[in-house]
Amino acid sequence: MNIALIAHDAKKELMIQFCIAYCGTLSKHNICATGTTGNLVAEATGLEVTRFLAGSQGGDEQIASRIACNEIDLLLFFRDPLNAKPNEPNEANLMRLCDVHNIPFGTNIATSEALIHSLENGDLDWRDIVNPK
Ligand code: PGA
Repeated sequence: MNIALIAHDAKKELMIQFCIAYCGTLSKHNICATGTTGNLVAEATGLEVTRFLAGSQGGDEQIASRIACNEIDLLLFFRDPLNAKPNEPNEANLMRLCDVHNIPFGTNIATSEALIHSLENGDLDWRDIVNPK
């Protein structure tokens, strides 16, 4: 499956810890991310991460376009609900596209852990059936 990662600055450390914790699972899938998030995750975990532009440069739009092309199966976007910076990606468009294309979307660690466990259990395999690659 193709998994996309984005983390606002205040949540990047949490994303790193999450990816370290679930490195074994994530390593079985294709991971992509916005630039800075991808660099940090790759450095901390050794995972192979396809890195798009930084969020401030349009990396979230690159991920959005892949969602629109049905090339993403799971989006984990650790957003900062309190103090997101004006140049940080906004989740509204990504959420809309995930709803249009029926893509599981985790915006916090609690939901994301549930989604990763679903992935481990094969509960998200329906994505392969609905959207064969
Ligand atoms: P980044 O993009 O991973 O490049 O930082 C996300 C963000 O700007 O919050």
